[in-house]
Amino acid sequence: MADSGFGKKCPNCSSTSQKDSPSFSSSKTRLTPAIVAETSDTSSLGEPDSSISLDRKKEQQIIKYKAFAKDVPSKSSNIEIKSSQQQWGRGNVTEVKVPHIRLDDGAAIQEIYTFGRILGKGSFGVVIEAINKETETKWAIKKVNKEKAGSSAVKLLEQEVNILKIVKHEHIIHLEQVFETPKKMYLVMELCEDGELKEILKRKKHFSENETRWIIQSLASAIAYLHNNDIVHRDLKLENIMVKSSFTDGNNEMNLNIKVTDFGLAVKKHGGSEAMLQTTCGTPTYMAPEVINDHDYSQQCDIWSIGVIMYILLCGEPPFFASSEEKLFELIRKGELHFSDPVWESISDCAKSVLKQLMKVDPAHRITAKELLDNQWITPTAHKKKFPVTSKKENVNNLDIGNSNSTPYRPLPAGIKGELEKSSVPSNQGTATKYTSKSIALPRTKKKP
Ligand code: ADP
Repeated sequence: MADSGFGKKCPNCSSTSQKDSPSFSSSKTRLTPAIVAETSDTSSLGEPDSSISLDRKKEQQIIKYKAFAKDVPSKSSNIEIKSSQQQWGRGNVTEVKVPHIRLDDGAAIQEIYTFGRILGKGSFGVVIEAINKETETKWAIKKVNKEKAGSSAVKLLEQEVNILKIVKHEHIIHLEQVFETPKKMYLVMELCEDGELKEILKRKKHFSENETRWIIQSLASAIAYLHNNDIVHRDLKLENIMVKSSFTDGNNEMNLNIKVTDFGLAVKKHGGSEAMLQTTCGTPTYMAPEVINDHDYSQQCDIWSIGVIMYILLCGEPPFFASSEEKLFELIRKGELHFSDPVWESISDCAKSVLKQLMKVDPAHRITAKELLDNQWITPTAHKKKFPVTSKKENVNNLDIGNSNSTPYRPLPAGIKGELEKSSVPSNQGTATKYTSKSIALPRTKKKP
């Protein structure tokens, strides 16, 4: 597929461009000696893109923290919380309150949580399993040393926090609360006990068409929600999809309850869906042609990444890989999909057609997240109304999607912990070099003609 016409036909090109490099002005007021907590204030999300800053001009109500958050034990009764929240966005976001608690040091957190095993180490910190002593609920706490991480990493973290504070979706990681000391930041997130989707794929080598359908269905639902609220993730990849729970059904197929994570490169667009972005960012293997071409781009870059994810889930290999970044980008620009591996023989034409629609080089011709949700491979048209994709999956049972070449549509029961294959099979994705799976963000200095 040639990309010569790329960018020219895009109807969005006439719309307002905006800088989208993250920068925050967090004007959190500190009241000492009482510990001050803030709920998310989303009021600044309509401001120029670069800053998802917290506008403290809004009315703020100071309430006793204990009256607000049942999580905090009584000995912390001097903690106060600043609450300023409002509904926002065009989408279905309801009132979201995420306490952001300022502490002098981390000792109070040890009073609230018992820390357990290390779940993983990230670029800037460590993620630890923790149990709330009072409620006995398990959480994943991401602990970041702000000094060690450095100011640009802290900006990314603040970007992540500010986006997570305002989103609420069953397939997006839930941020419960934030603790901040002068030196450290603690993000209390819902625990994804089954780890990374990438690790499960490594063990299985590839998923079946049904298993892939259910994962992509959940992913499409999360991304449609984000795009409906003018949020672009910009770093969708296997590593950023966690598995909260899973089970294997009677047909030996895995049902995964997935959560989209890592909003460090996410941005809230201003000017609605027509607004364009410029920062070259993402992860090479998953990057859309318009991003690597330095064209202005839109939320459609996420759709391309969904295509790459779907391709990898089905066959275990990325659609484009090469020995250098330059060669990789050349392949992405061409966007030619190959289905020559024997594994594709059992994959329906319908699934292949979805992949082609997700990875159209011209973003103007690429399917949107909403269209993906409506696609017959994802949701059988005849049953769509009766069984909405996002919430009633458990009601959909053994439906045929009306395409003889497709595997039957099956329900996706979520939230049930089941048996997981524990065998450790080495990755078959070794062909993609390391740099291709690392996130990058390069604010553009000069635009290509
Ligand atoms: P990165 O900095 O690379 O984006 P994170 O710091 O977010 O990574 O996470 C590091 C690791 O911790 C992840 O690779 C994952 O294995 C684990 N992890 C992160 N969040 C959770 C969670 N909510 N539940 C369980 N494990 C998690």
